[in-house]
Amino acid sequence: MARGRESRLGPVLYSPGAMECVACKVSDQDVRLHKCPICFKWVCENCAIRSYGRAFCMRKCADQFFWGDDEDE
Ligand SMILES: [Zn+2]
Ligand SMILES: [Zn+2]
Repeated sequence: MARGRESRLGPVLYSPGAMECVACKVSDQDVRLHKCPICFKWVCENCAIRSYGRAFCMRKCADQFFWGDDEDE
């Protein structure tokens, strides 16, 4: 059974703007996603680290935002 397969369209192309949470992979179709201002990954309401009035994908990004350009690496 190849139900749903559209071979004439070739490989499945994700529609532009289709995004998912970097942590739990939930789709932006289901929840509202925030873009991490540090690494530009998308993160959902549940997984976002909220600091300084912004939503970060992880603690590390929030810290980086606070400390500025950390050139420790
Ligand atoms: Zn999430
Ligand atoms: Zn991030």
